[in-house]
Amino acid sequence: MENSETDSVTVYIGLGSNLANPADQVRSARTAIMQTPGIKETAFSSLYHSPPMGPQDQPDYVNAVMCVATKLPPIDLLHCLQRIENNHGRVRKAERWGARTLDLDMLIYDDQLINIPELIVPHPGLAERAFVLYPLFEIAPQLMIPGKGNIADLLAQCPMNELRRLD
Ligand code: ADP
Ligand code: MG
Repeated sequence: MENSETDSVTVYIGLGSNLANPADQVRSARTAIMQTPGIKETAFSSLYHSPPMGPQDQPDYVNAVMCVATKLPPIDLLHCLQRIENNHGRVRKAERWGARTLDLDMLIYDDQLINIPELIVPHPGLAERAFVLYPLFEIAPQLMIPGKGNIADLLAQCPMNELRRLD
């Protein structure tokens, strides 16, 4: 009999939104990810409120981090996440870090280091972003981030500033 847990890897996904009721966008994205065949949720952080990165003429963000077990290869998982972004009305604009209804970033994929044009893992901004590190620490306080060190050390270098936990 196939053991469904045997080949699963652990993946962390960052969720963010700053348009069209961001908290609802993040909750609904969580449901969509959970309902994707081949993905099983193992943890979900609190929601966090954070000021925008980059252009300041946009609303504040709601962010969260989700941990899943999956057998999907990295690129297939990325495409699933992009499909969910598109289903949430995400419009891709030229402006970097502009407002969006939903942003799903693959933060960590097992112990892998991936660097291809379409996918960089661990996510390049992870180590410096409070809105990623604090929710990640909440659900995985012992985490070793491939190529970057342990989460507690990264957190110690990253002030919380205006990040606020919502629930
Ligand atoms: P950002 O999240 O930096 O604001 P976008 O979501 O618009 O930017 O970036 C989308 C692009 O980033 C996609 O084309 C995707 O191929 C690429 N990308 C590279 N690494 C990752 C990753 N770890 N997770 C999600 N997308 C990634
Ligand atoms: Mg993104």
